[in-house]
Amino acid sequence: SAEETLLELKGMHVFYGAIEALKGIDLTVRKGEIVALLGGNGAGKTTTLRTISGMLQPRIGEVLYRGERIDGIKSHELVQFGIGHVPEGRRVFATMTVRENLEMGAYKFNSVDAADLDRAFTLFPRLAERRTQLAGTLSGGEQQMLAIGRALMGRPELLLLDEPSMGLAPLIVQQIFEIIEEINKQGTTVLLVEQNATQALGLADRGYVLETGAVAMSGPATELLSDTRIRAAYLGEG
Ligand code: ATP
Repeated sequence: SAEETLLELKGMHVFYGAIEALKGIDLTVRKGEIVALLGGNGAGKTTTLRTISGMLQPRIGEVLYRGERIDGIKSHELVQFGIGHVPEGRRVFATMTVRENLEMGAYKFNSVDAADLDRAFTLFPRLAERRTQLAGTLSGGEQQMLAIGRALMGRPELLLLDEPSMGLAPLIVQQIFEIIEEINKQGTTVLLVEQNATQALGLADRGYVLETGAVAMSGPATELLSDTRIRAAYLGEG
């Protein structure tokens, strides 16, 4: 049902050495949703995603997936839980081809399913045209598409996207957001980190706004979009 909780962060505190980057985060993602995680530079968005995907551990608090504690589980094991992560800066394998990069995304399976490759190439026709091209020679937008396609090859139930619009031209950003919407319609739940608040909230069901490591505001995307404080702080108004 729409109320089924996939991901739950409870009172999550995360440190880099003595620096407390997250100061007690509570956040929920339900099956089928697109949830936007917003906030300015250094607010703690990337740290939140890294903690969900097992690259960091909370010093205090819990990360639950389908009610099960997952904090402390290593990244490569978390893939088995159905969590896919498209990291900040895309990180495609530059000296491998587009197709090889996609195949790497299926590493948790014993073999690459042709239907998964077909799905990626259908979502991203540009990648289909460039399937034998080295990933390092792709444009920034194409590399972002490849990073998303690679994560989808693992058939994630929840996809974590870290600033997919970063450094891309508006037209490409729009295309990528449309594809994220399509991926969600096909059944994948999405937690989307963005600095681009207007566009992210245009796509999302709900949003959370982080400020200096804490949730400053949260609610339905439509409410956040019309909130004057949000408009002043993140939408370049006021
Ligand atoms: P950005 O949009 O700039 O990536 P963000 O919201 O993702 O910002 P984080 O990268 O999560 O923010 O950073 C949160 C806080 O943790 C910041 O104060 C940052 O300086 C600090 N921080 C991030 N990475 C490290 C690190 N490796 N060592 C020490 N402090 C860090």
